[in-house]
Amino acid sequence: MATNRTKVPRPLARQLFVEAGHRCAIPTCRAAPLEIAHIVPWHRVQRHDFHNMVVLCPNCHTRFDRGDIDRQAMFRYKELLRLSDPNRVAPEDPSPRAGLIRAYRLFQSEITGWHKSISDLILAVGYSSHGFPTGNLQGCRRAASVARVATDKLGELGDEGVGEAADYVFDWYRNWADDVFDLKLSVFSGSGRDDYEDWENERFMAFVVLHEEVCVALDLDPTELDFFEAERDDQELPKVSLGTRGLWETDE
Ligand SMILES: [Zn+2]
Repeated sequence: MATNRTKVPRPLARQLFVEAGHRCAIPTCRAAPLEIAHIVPWHRVQRHDFHNMVVLCPNCHTRFDRGDIDRQAMFRYKELLRLSDPNRVAPEDPSPRAGLIRAYRLFQSEITGWHKSISDLILAVGYSSHGFPTGNLQGCRRAASVARVATDKLGELGDEGVGEAADYVFDWYRNWADDVFDLKLSVFSGSGRDDYEDWENERFMAFVVLHEEVCVALDLDPTELDFFEAERDDQELPKVSLGTRGLWETDE
């Protein structure tokens, strides 16, 4: 399996050892001697990339290879090394992977905020015969612009596939907000129930596609990154689950 594997260049090895203070990268272990491990395995990446490598003691290395420690956890340990470095200057070279994951989480949180503000607007209209309450409308517009920024950031840090998938989610919400502003609320009435479900399915699939694109960009399996489940705490609208990570679970 490791046939064409090239030797880790000495400067890179040194950088990895220094990063971990010449101790196993798992904070509760810190044992020695040390081995260099690829977080996404060598046979998949075929290259030595600092951000994808970490030093481990043989015991932790074996546990990692066996799956006792999963890949997402290992990236987190790697990130902790960087954060705990006392000589750390401003993160001039932040791990692009960590940046993408953060941008994905931020996107999810801003979209959730926007979702909530659109729901609030619908509820406020329902209780008022005087059109949209100004405060809700402004809140909704503000949430939309913040979500736009988060969408652009995610597209910037991801690849083209991530950018397109994020735009698609954003557009879904923009269409929903547009419909609300135009008072085309039929989809929320009992008679429009089928349409509503199709629409919800479209949203669900948009999130699924985005999740898969982000995972491709990170070279992770979809189950290795937490999937997004939008929270809906209002009682007026039907509750629609965005599904679970069980979607991608296979029994290979
Ligand atoms: Zn260890």
